[in-house]
Amino acid sequence: MSYPYEAPQSQSLFERASVVTPGGVNSPVRAFRAVGGTPRFMVSGSGPYLTDADGREYVDLVCSWGPMILGHAHPAVLEAVQQAVSRGTSFGTPGQGEVELAEEIVSRVAPVEQVRLVSSGTEATMSAIRLARGFTGRAKIVKFAGCYHGHVDALLAAAGSGLATFALPDTPGVTGAQAGDTVVLPYNDLAAVEQAFQAHPGEIAAVITEASPGNMGVVPPLAGFNAGLAKLCRENGALFMSDEVMTGFRVSKAGWYGLEAAHEGWAPDLLTFGKVMGGGFPAAAFGGRADVMAHLAPAGPVYQAGTLSGNPVATAAGLAQLRNCTDEVYATVDRVADTVSGLVTEALAKEGVAHRLQRAGNMFSVFFTDQPVTDYDSAKRQESFRFTAFFHSLLADGVYLPPSAFESWFVSSAHDERAIDRIVAALPAAAQAAARATAS
Ligand SMILES: *Cc1c(COP(=O)(O)O)cnc(C)c1O
Repeated sequence: MSYPYEAPQSQSLFERASVVTPGGVNSPVRAFRAVGGTPRFMVSGSGPYLTDADGREYVDLVCSWGPMILGHAHPAVLEAVQQAVSRGTSFGTPGQGEVELAEEIVSRVAPVEQVRLVSSGTEATMSAIRLARGFTGRAKIVKFAGCYHGHVDALLAAAGSGLATFALPDTPGVTGAQAGDTVVLPYNDLAAVEQAFQAHPGEIAAVITEASPGNMGVVPPLAGFNAGLAKLCRENGALFMSDEVMTGFRVSKAGWYGLEAAHEGWAPDLLTFGKVMGGGFPAAAFGGRADVMAHLAPAGPVYQAGTLSGNPVATAAGLAQLRNCTDEVYATVDRVADTVSGLVTEALAKEGVAHRLQRAGNMFSVFFTDQPVTDYDSAKRQESFRFTAFFHSLLADGVYLPPSAFESWFVSSAHDERAIDRIVAALPAAAQAAARATAS
């Protein structure tokens, strides 16, 4: 297809990047391979907007893939970062910021009695898996197709996100031994989990799931699914691991746990966090039951470490962001999600485009299908060529969506009336483009 406008500065940067970096990007989800065209190189962000190298401004519906819940360059976060930087950037010793960030997490999420800070969501899930294996003395891990838990070797089987976008069923470089202890099951299928426990008695260390999946598009758990997983794990001596890297501190003060589990009276044994808790810096965490966490070095025998773990600038940014994520902020983000998702549905319905808008708290995405999407297989059955046309029309009109039909959209408390008005103005043409689109 032809693209509605050129982006010469981004094009020139992309050409230079492609010489020195594989595919011109440092994370595959930033490439435009699924939708075609040139990725936009952004130079600044402010509130709900991003500005690219050609000086074009976009309403940002990616929010750095979730972290920027207060919008870009929030004054309180910038202030905390500037103060932290002026005191030095890394000490390789414990520091006060780490204690405060850990206390903030523990106080927000009841089942997290202890937490260990790391630098990325990948590190968090990788370390939590090792801990679960060390704690239980078992090898096998159950994961669900379409759930993404970072690029951990053992978890890159039927993963979502970039792997969904590029339809890579598996990846070279992960050996049979590394993935051989991973059991991949269809999402939202409790019977399959029950069968796996019967097929591998006493062998499953943990079941890991996205608290509410956002990496195959937004596919919320069916009522009772997470509670059922928690129960099956308890009955079978396995740990229940809820990956809240995306949902944590985003969909509520206590993440998806706060929206679902807290009312139903069950709890994950281990949780992983990232994205929002770093305030735009590399900070992530895993935590949970104190008796399990006690197995981590130096308290226990399971080794885990990091030169920049609990970095003073990253923890200052994360702490400032979390302290500003008040009930009011969550109410605002929910309202923005209501508005934007409502507008998208309205525009697509007006053009007769078959679609499902799926929500999980303030996360949402559009599937171009008239069938409900409950797992990875049903997610893949959508007409993603319609997304491509929809995406490029919005991009041309200054609205930046994730460049893939298999990703959640994210909004922030900074998405004000002006930003919404720009989305309103861009939607009719995008819906028409989606309606006109034909496969390839
Ligand atoms: C983003 C994400 C990760 C990986 O986090 P990184 O910081 O990119 O390593 C893990 N799990 C989930 C659910 C995610 O959304």
